[in-house]
Amino acid sequence: MTIEEPDHRVKHPPFSFELFPPRTAAAAHSLWDTIHELAAVGPDFMSVTYGANGSSRQSSLQVLQHLRENTAVHPLAHLTCVGSSHFEANRLVREFLDAGITSFLALRGDPPQGAAEGDQFLGDLGSASELVQLIHRVQTERAQYSTLQSRSATGGGHIPSSRSKVRVAVAAFPNGHPRSRRSNQDIDTLLAKQVSGATMAITQLFFHAEDYVRFVSEAQAAGVTIPILPGLMPATSPARLERILDLTGERRPEELSRRLHGTDSIDRQAAVGIEHATALATEVLDAGAPGLHLYTFNQHRAVLSVLEGAGLTAAASTNKESA
Ligand code: FAD
Repeated sequence: MTIEEPDHRVKHPPFSFELFPPRTAAAAHSLWDTIHELAAVGPDFMSVTYGANGSSRQSSLQVLQHLRENTAVHPLAHLTCVGSSHFEANRLVREFLDAGITSFLALRGDPPQGAAEGDQFLGDLGSASELVQLIHRVQTERAQYSTLQSRSATGGGHIPSSRSKVRVAVAAFPNGHPRSRRSNQDIDTLLAKQVSGATMAITQLFFHAEDYVRFVSEAQAAGVTIPILPGLMPATSPARLERILDLTGERRPEELSRRLHGTDSIDRQAAVGIEHATALATEVLDAGAPGLHLYTFNQHRAVLSVLEGAGLTAAASTNKESA
């Protein structure tokens, strides 16, 4: 079962997790434990982020390979194209496909600090849509090449279909990308990504269910038909909330912020963040979200508590049984 092709015999919506590549050997060790705990609840996939300008290419690939070799979980690779030439982007996609990765989150990526839009930093590929097309093109070429090889080896064979079987997710921004210039620009961009071959969208995190519900409704009215998976992160400390706001440019959730900053107890802060994320998860699922994508910060406890609170932990065993 996948988010794009749900199995309606499974009663609960699917869920997935986001990880980032570790920066030290100790962090890697603890990440393997986290992955083990997360894999046990049967996620649809786990995604691994990609450092700005390819800085984590090797370590991202290492985590994806760990998922392939040591778990039953489907790995999904984030890739960015900012600053790459066509040749480099082509080679990057090929390298991940060669490693057995067939699911991607195609992103434009952020420019280096201080660079202006239109600068050279953008490279040959100016948007995530172009990377979506490139991934499909590279995969199709590979499929054709391997069929030609097997046909010449066996003297026969079939011609592969031109659209290959890769999952290509894209990012969506319910409250607008920080650099958007008009309110419907993000919906137009999402529509362009769908036309380019995206099979699913994952949202930037948000703090109010109505932001997601409004965005999905406007996107669907504009012609978006791919599933839009809500991205949620439990803000389990004031520091984490500040970091999230800094990274995403999202508006401060006043009530959550007040409650997190209102106690010095680490346990109480974690409980506040989990309670907020659980309520949000329940609201978006009730409103028809096709599943949940949880940003883990490479820690399992908080996201597993959210799933349990939202009544999806039973889904874990159901999903595994029916897989
Ligand atoms: P695009 O879809 O090409 O554009 C995004 C939006 O930016 C558009 O909707 C448009 O409104 C606006 N925009 C784009 N170009 C312009 C322009 N020239 N002028 C004005 N506005 C413009 N980054 C990483 O480096 N690594 C990751 O692993 C990563 N993972 C992410 C996962 C998710 C779920 C999300 C939501 C974001 C992630 N990002 C990651 C951040 C992402 O790279 C940035 O948000 C980037 O600025 C935009 O990427 P995009 O793929 O959305 O680009």
